[in-house]
Amino acid sequence: MSRMKVLIADSINEKGISELEEVAEVVVNTTITPDELLDAIKDFDAIVVRSRTKVTREVIEAAPRLKIIARAGVGVDNVDVKAATERGIMVINAPESTSITVAEHSIGLMLALARKISIADRSVKEGKWEKNRFMGIELNGKTLGIIGMGRIGSQVVVRTKAFGMDILVYDPYISREAAEEMGVTVTDLETLLRESDIVTIHVPLTPETRHLISDDEFKLMKETAFIVNCARGGIIDEDALYRALKDGEIAGAALDVFEEEPPEGSPLLELENVVLTPHIGASTAEAQRDAAIIVANEIKTVFQGGAPRNVLNMPVMDSETYKSLKPYIELAEKMGAIIAQALPGNIEKLDVTYCGELAEMQFDILTRTMLQAILNPILTEPVNLINAPTIAKKRGIMVTEARRSESDGYRSIIIATAASDKGEFSVEATHIKEPTIIGINGYRVDVKPEGTMIIARYRDLPGTIGAIGTKLGQHGINIATMQVGRKEIGGEAVMVLKVDQSVPAEVIEEVKKLENVDDAVAIEI
Ligand code: NAD
Repeated sequence: MSRMKVLIADSINEKGISELEEVAEVVVNTTITPDELLDAIKDFDAIVVRSRTKVTREVIEAAPRLKIIARAGVGVDNVDVKAATERGIMVINAPESTSITVAEHSIGLMLALARKISIADRSVKEGKWEKNRFMGIELNGKTLGIIGMGRIGSQVVVRTKAFGMDILVYDPYISREAAEEMGVTVTDLETLLRESDIVTIHVPLTPETRHLISDDEFKLMKETAFIVNCARGGIIDEDALYRALKDGEIAGAALDVFEEEPPEGSPLLELENVVLTPHIGASTAEAQRDAAIIVANEIKTVFQGGAPRNVLNMPVMDSETYKSLKPYIELAEKMGAIIAQALPGNIEKLDVTYCGELAEMQFDILTRTMLQAILNPILTEPVNLINAPTIAKKRGIMVTEARRSESDGYRSIIIATAASDKGEFSVEATHIKEPTIIGINGYRVDVKPEGTMIIARYRDLPGTIGAIGTKLGQHGINIATMQVGRKEIGGEAVMVLKVDQSVPAEVIEEVKKLENVDDAVAIEI
C-alpha cells in the first residue's frame, strides 16, 4: 500500500510533524496560496492547518483522496465543516490543548489584581518607589467564585485550591457529584456573587450568557471584590463594568477578552484598577505544541484504522445507510434543540425510543445527534458525534435507547423523554416529507419544527387561548400557526404556536402569569 500523504499548510510545532512522519509522507508548505492549494490538495490524504489556510468547499471538492482535515487548535472557523461532512471527510481539532494555558492566565490576572502588579511595574519604570501605595491581599483563605466549570474552570479549581482558596461554582449544567468530587461548593449565581472575593468567568458566549454580569450583578458583589474574564467578550456588560468600577461597587477587574477587540476608545482603558491583556489567554508555546501533537496523534490513529477522539463531524458510515438515516438525523437534531430549550435545569436522563422501520436501523447515530444538539448550546467547543455519549456520561446524563416495532401508522417515529432536576419533557416526531412533531408531553400535535415556536401548558378553559393570543398581540408578536392538543375537555392541554419573530423573555414571563396558563417557553429552531 502506498504511504499516506499529509500536507502541513500552516506552521505547527516540530513535535507534531515528527509524529506524523512515523506513519506518513509529510509535505510542509506553510506559504501555500489558495490557488496553489486548490491544485495541490488532490494528492493528499490529510491536511493540517492552524488559522491562516482556509479549507473551503472548493478545496474540499478538489480533493478526491482527502480523509482528514485537522485544525491544530480549537475553533474551526476556517474549515467548511458542512462540505467536509458531505464528502465523508473527518474534521478534527484539539479542544483540550489550551485549557491549562487559559487557566494559568486567569490565575495570573487574579494575582495581578491582588498584588497590583501591573500598576506597580509601571510606577517603578517611571522611576518611583511607592511601597505604601501597593498594599495587596493574599489569595489564601479567600473565596473564589467560578462561573462555568468545564475544561478551563476545572483546571482553575485544581490550581487555586493549592493557593488555599475556598471555591464556589455556578454551573447549572454540571452534575453535583462531579463537582463535589472536585471539592467545590455548587451554588446559584446570586450567592456566588455575594460571597466571592474574586469571580472568574469560564462559560461560552451564548444568548443565555450574553451580559450575564451587568448592573444588577455588580450590585450584589462585595466592594472589595475583583472580577476576571478570560472567556469571551460580551459575557460581562462593559458599560456596567465601567460604572461598577467608577462607583466603587467592586474593587477591580481583569480582562483578556472584550466586546470589541481591540477595545479602542473604551473608557475602561483609563481606569487604574483594571488589568487588560490582548486576548492572549491561549497563547503559550506549550498549548501550540500540544495542539500539534494531539492532531498528529489523531491522524495517526485514523491511518492505523482506529477511532479518533476529536471528530467534529460525522463518523464514517456507508453512504446507503447515511442516505436512509439522513432525514432522521435532521429530525433528531431538531428534537434535541427543542429539549434543550423546553426543559429547564440540569438534564439527568434521556430516554429515546425508535419505532417502526427505524427500530431495525443503525439508530445509535440519531441518539448521538440528539445529545449533540442538547449539549452544544451549553458547551464551548462543538460536541461531536463520537464524544457526545462520553460527555453526556461525564455530565451525569443517563441515556437509554429502546426499539418498538409498532409506530402508530407512521413509517417511523422517534420518542424522546428527558428529565432534569426541574421536571420532565417529552417530544414525539416523525418525518413525512419534512420533520414533523406529532406529540408533546403525550398530547397530540402536528407541527413543523422551524423558526420561533412557543410551547404553553394550560388548562383547557374558555378564554385561555384568546388571552395568550391577545398578550402576544399587545407585544406586536404575530401568530403564524396554532396547534392545540388535549386529552379531555377542560383538562390539561398543550398549545404550540409558531410566531413570526423572536419572543423576548419578558413576554414569556407575562404569558406564564395569565390565568389557567401553567407554563410557557419560547423555542428557536
Ligand atoms: P467548556 O465547554 O469546557 O465549559 C463551559 C462550561 O460552562 C460548561 O461546564 C457549561 O456547563 C458551563 N455553562 C454553559 N452555560 C452556562 C451558564 N449559562 N451559566 C453557567 N455555566 C454555564 O469550555 P472551556 O473550554 O472551559 O472554555 C471556557 C471559556 O473560555 C469559553 O468562553 C472559551 O471560548 C474561552 N476561551 C478563551 C480563550 C482565551 O484566549 N482567552 C482560549 C480558550 C477558551
